[in-house]
Amino acid sequence: LLQLYVPLNFLGMVYREVKQGLVDMEVLFGLIDRPPEVADPANAADLVVRGGAVRFEGVRFAYNPEREVLKGVSLEIPAGGTLAVVGHSGAGKSTLSRLLFRFYDVTGGRVLIDGQDLRDVTQASLRRAIGIVPQDTVLFNDTIGYNIAYGRPGASRQEVERAARLAAIHDFVQSLKNGYDTQVGERGLKLSGGEKQRVAIARTILKDPAILILDEATSALDSHTEREIQGALRDVSRGRTTLVIAHRLSTVIDADRILVLDGGRVAESGSHDDLLRAEGLYAALWRKQQQSSSLAVDEEADTILP
Ligand code: ATP
Repeated sequence: LLQLYVPLNFLGMVYREVKQGLVDMEVLFGLIDRPPEVADPANAADLVVRGGAVRFEGVRFAYNPEREVLKGVSLEIPAGGTLAVVGHSGAGKSTLSRLLFRFYDVTGGRVLIDGQDLRDVTQASLRRAIGIVPQDTVLFNDTIGYNIAYGRPGASRQEVERAARLAAIHDFVQSLKNGYDTQVGERGLKLSGGEKQRVAIARTILKDPAILILDEATSALDSHTEREIQGALRDVSRGRTTLVIAHRLSTVIDADRILVLDGGRVAESGSHDDLLRAEGLYAALWRKQQQSSSLAVDEEADTILP
């Protein structure tokens, strides 16, 4: 019983803190383990965002001292640019996004935004500068309007509706009997994976951050929803420095640059065409995924055809 009680109690605490606005919503992403304390130094200054350029310099990281997950990763995303990170499951992709958000501190090297080491700036200012569209969005037991407005507490109904339109969820909300006042969450309307992702996109549009982390959903959405969401994501990432954690290759073809992680190291990087020509790990992953998606299409056809 005690085992059950502790995590529930912890979740309850996080939820209360969220409600009080003490913890940014995105801290919930990757909540599986309680993170070690990440503290502001006494003389921490606020992050000064100029264009939002991101730089990892020889970053090393281990969740447990026995096993290093990142073994010296360097990458750069110019202000307003997009970098997509791909690689086998467990390669360390999501870990990069957790370090950029300073959910953990690096164990070697450094992470910089516009030349400022994340460890030197206040966490509040860092988290204001970064928006996250996570794999699975946490919804509060409140109205859908509240859930969208969470991106910027105090946003007006008009601003909420504008963000919802851009995230392609306004029409869905309008079709509900109580519109934006509809209760969602455990005790209300259940939203599908795609609808939840659109809520997260609308929140991000309201938050208007210079830097964006898109942690692509691992669960497949139907292809129509996926295309709509991809379109909304492209719109929201325009003009923002964007780190895309891609679990499927089909969504990265248009990225300015793709970085392939393998066993905690950068195996290769370049555009989709460059990487195909290089005939390395990316080309192999691409071929593998092409085969499995044509298999999926065949299976679909089998179920439709007599
Ligand atoms: P996927 O595509 O499956 O999401 P990924 O490339 O994003 O994988 P990460 O989530 O970054 O992989 O994980 C990298 C490694 O770190 C994995 O071996 C994983 O088991 C380990 N790991 C991730 N989170 C934790 C944690 N909270 N505590 C301990 N180990 C972890």
